[in-house]
Amino acid sequence: MNESNRSAKHYDMVVIGSGAAGHHGAIQAAKLGKKVAVVERSIALGGASINTGTIPSKTLREAVLRSTRSGSTDRRISASILALRIEEIASHEVRVFESQFRRNDIDVLIGTASFSGPHTIRVASQEGEYFCHADHVLIATGSRPAHNDAIPVDDVSIIDTDAIRRFTNGAPCVDHRRGWRDRY
Ligand SMILES: Cc1cc2nc3c(=O)[nH]c(=O)nc-3n(C[C@H](O)[C@H](O)[C@H](O)COP(=O)(O)OP(=O)(O)OC[C@H]3O[C@@H](n4cnc5c(N)ncnc54)[C@H](O)[C@@H]3O)c2cc1C
Repeated sequence: MNESNRSAKHYDMVVIGSGAAGHHGAIQAAKLGKKVAVVERSIALGGASINTGTIPSKTLREAVLRSTRSGSTDRRISASILALRIEEIASHEVRVFESQFRRNDIDVLIGTASFSGPHTIRVASQEGEYFCHADHVLIATGSRPAHNDAIPVDDVSIIDTDAIRRFTNGAPCVDHRRGWRDRY
């Protein structure tokens, strides 16, 4: 253990990943009186359910249905309007996550987590690296879209769900650390 490891903050539990699994695990542990940190490598908390899966897919569906509903004044809908609607809903959900973490005194550490010892987590980001210790580690790192060689995902005519928010170039995207910015 080097000097920086020795001065690392100690937690009862460190959760790697802030998706649905990490979020619930962290909140439950905090409610049991544990000191918890969540490590997230993405610029937005919430994992697939908020950023690429559940919320974006349902928001997309509802936005299309609403704009094409009979009686709607504008039946044309652009990709950038859809993207903005997704951003609006997703950024609200991210803020709900942030507030729940704050209320439960959960630290959010931004960076990519890896093990540097059985109970030591290294968190690496563009700003550098730091370490924390944990009695327990919950690995909730999720999954990614499965691809099939016979169906090439070219990000033009065939996209996967991870690309849903890249759909419209230059669409503003919320960065929970810096506010609105251009993500893509
Ligand atoms: C299009 C679509 C629609 C869906 N619709 C529904 C639905 O209607 N209802 C439903 O129940 N489910 C739905 N799902 C499934 C749901 O989104 C997933 O089951 C859920 O998001 C899984 O949560 P998770 O926490 O396990 O993983 P994820 O949400 O993938 O979260 C993992 C997190 O870990 C982070 N991470 C990974 N590695 C590291 C690391 N080394 N260091 C730091 N952070 C890391 C990732 O950045 C990510 O934020 C849908 C999924 C998709 C793709």
